[in-house]
Amino acid sequence: MPHNRHIASFIALVFLTIGFLIFFDICRAQTTKEFRTAGSSSTALAPASSSQQTDSKVGMTDAVSNETNGVSSTCGVIVLGYHQFTGPSKKSKNIYVMSQDVFETEMQFLKENGYHVVSLEDLLHFLKHEISLPTQSVAITIDDGYKSVVTYAAPVLKNHGYPWTFFVYTDFIGTSSQSASWQDLLNLQADGVDIECHSKDHPFLNHKNGKTPEQYDQWLTDEIVVSKSILEQKLGKPIHFFAYPYGAYNQEVQTKIIDAGYDGIFTVANNPVYSTTSPFSIGRYVITKGEEKLFAAFLREGVH
Ligand SMILES: [Zn+2]
Repeated sequence: MPHNRHIASFIALVFLTIGFLIFFDICRAQTTKEFRTAGSSSTALAPASSSQQTDSKVGMTDAVSNETNGVSSTCGVIVLGYHQFTGPSKKSKNIYVMSQDVFETEMQFLKENGYHVVSLEDLLHFLKHEISLPTQSVAITIDDGYKSVVTYAAPVLKNHGYPWTFFVYTDFIGTSSQSASWQDLLNLQADGVDIECHSKDHPFLNHKNGKTPEQYDQWLTDEIVVSKSILEQKLGKPIHFFAYPYGAYNQEVQTKIIDAGYDGIFTVANNPVYSTTSPFSIGRYVITKGEEKLFAAFLREGVH
């Protein structure tokens, strides 16, 4: 009967709609239980604007079509890389020096636009397919070990409750008023900050500079293995991650880092991190003065 056919069509449409909605929500649904995020309340999940909504849908659609074992391969995580800071509204000619108010604006942007700040530890679990992460996940790293990070960036990050990682090179720590002290690092660590390795003397690790193969290997041992031991001894915790100084490396460098027992390596290759990304080649977006304007665009690359 025509009437029954109408009812059957209506019921089929309802089921189709429900199925469609469930499908579109999968990536986002895998959120709060399995990992730690900061600033990721349920309200933060809601996109702040209509354009955000569109971006999120693109991310979720892609994620669903590529999902395996509950871990999306296309929900890209954006890892941000910072270096030095100055007081509010102070200007520096150095492109790696960001004023505190600009940094605060960027951190606030993450919160207001529904981004989830995750730790590198959780990023590693994600790469090992042990947990899933939502779309719009971001990790924050700061390189080198400057005192200005302790003075200007750490309080901002603490106020927002964001996890972050400080990649330091050991020869720099405690050497001048410009550098963080070992006590600074211990204080940060007590506040929950993750301290990791950025070599011993911050060289281009791929530059052999006339060294024999034996000399080069010994030198790499100092930069990669000894620095790890120093940090572990000073901080009393295992070191899991290495960030290449200048992002520079070769096969020998990478092998040495893996053999030293690091669980992950960070580059500066400007690419999102997917569940299929190797833990030994994790790209970061270095945010410099010239790239502040691209901040939002970089973040969107994670959901394309
Ligand atoms: Zn560096």
